[in-house]
Amino acid sequence: MVGEGQGLHVVAKPIGPACNLNCEYCFYLEKQALFATDKKYRMSDKVLSAFITNYITSQPTPVVEFVWQGGEPTLLGIDFFKRVVDLQKPFVQTKTITNSLQTNGTLLTAEWCQFLKKHNFMVGISLDGPKEIHDRYRRTAKVTEPSTW
Ligand code: SF4
Repeated sequence: MVGEGQGLHVVAKPIGPACNLNCEYCFYLEKQALFATDKKYRMSDKVLSAFITNYITSQPTPVVEFVWQGGEPTLLGIDFFKRVVDLQKPFVQTKTITNSLQTNGTLLTAEWCQFLKKHNFMVGISLDGPKEIHDRYRRTAKVTEPSTW
């Protein structure tokens, strides 16, 4: 329950449990079993638009924080997050809107980094430590159907 004047903090997972890694300890990949068998995890534009509008307009606070997680949210591509920023734009005159992205970092390119910097995304990258430790449990997934994301 949200008290008067308090904001709500939502972690959005717009690619659901899809990830390009298959970490041995991941607690979230198994959530794929909760989805229909067509494995379409991508948040639709209609839902994204409704989420952004309702999340901002329902909050009494001057600051609204968006947190984007996965799975691996960069699988959605930069255009998805360009759309996020565009949908947030009508509200930036009245609210301070921030974005955070939690990623395994493996798909980040110079273009991604420029985009994230330009729009002030706070970026969290999950690492397990030095290479020999990191690579022990964080393995690349066999990705066979990227087009279904
Ligand atoms: S990178 Fe994160 S979401 Fe992907 S398999 Fe590893 S723990 Fe799970």
